[in-house]
Amino acid sequence: MTNSISVLERDSSDSPCYNEEMKTISSILSIQKVVTAIRDKKRRIGLVPTMGAFHEGHLSLMRKARRECDIVVVSLFVNPLQFGPTEDFKRYPCDLMADRKMAQAAGVDFLFAPTAEAIVPPDLETSVSVDKVASRWEGTIRPGHFRGVATIVAKLFQIVNPHVAYFGQKDYQQTVVIRKMVRDLHFNLKLRILPTVREKDGLAKSSRNKFLLKKERSVASILYRALQQAKQSVQEGEHDCQRLAQQVALIFSAEPSVQVDYIAFCHPTTLGLVSRVLRKTVLLLAVRIGSVRLLDNIILHRQRAL
Ligand code: AMP
Repeated sequence: MTNSISVLERDSSDSPCYNEEMKTISSILSIQKVVTAIRDKKRRIGLVPTMGAFHEGHLSLMRKARRECDIVVVSLFVNPLQFGPTEDFKRYPCDLMADRKMAQAAGVDFLFAPTAEAIVPPDLETSVSVDKVASRWEGTIRPGHFRGVATIVAKLFQIVNPHVAYFGQKDYQQTVVIRKMVRDLHFNLKLRILPTVREKDGLAKSSRNKFLLKKERSVASILYRALQQAKQSVQEGEHDCQRLAQQVALIFSAEPSVQVDYIAFCHPTTLGLVSRVLRKTVLLLAVRIGSVRLLDNIILHRQRAL
């Protein structure tokens, strides 16, 4: 009997933590069989899509899924479609052994790690394109990026058929694109967006942080400081986005090694620019430090007048 079946056949009064031994599956057919059997048993499946190189940000999603679902599936797929021709696909970090250990310790039941050929065969013709929200910000700088993301996330949703899928607020625009795709294509699942996990100095954890040189790394917390400055100014009653953007730009201008791609105060679901801070406004930041692009964001809340 395979591990996966013994997981399913345990009595539901057992401990909710099923993963005594996480199983790694690369075949699409095998994971489909597993999730069909899980669904037949009326168990809830949580999916955490990832590109591997796990850190505390990924683990926070896995742990949350562990607490909220009966079976946790983590997909590990470095999606070639979301990288542009001049981007860092080839140097994207990858350590399957370390990832397996971390996922197992986080309580994951199945690590789904398909091959590139299986997910993106040479004759692939179908893609998922979310128009407006994907065309802004990252979409302008990285044309085709979100088509790559949406296509692969749609495939993962089709294959794993989860009840709940977990994403990080760290990639805010990605969450907006996926939410729109889920609505538009009637995927029958819930999205859970979890807070950004940070280093001690506020830098958002990211698989790409390891490419920062020592000096660059010490500068990189500037994004967090800029977000905190904006938050404080809004709390103090500044609601004019142009002035807020100037304050943020001033922080970055003090550090010549930082090149700003955008500072955008946006509507939280359309991602269109707003001129005044609304009840809920998202500040999106993207900068380059050395060879590394860093993204971060914060949701700002307008104070209610007393
Ligand atoms: P990635 O492997 O970079 O594609 O990320 C997989 C998932 O982890 C995405 O939903 C990311 O938004 C999320 N994630 C990445 N970094 C963080 C972080 N620092 N905190 C929370 N979630 C994160």
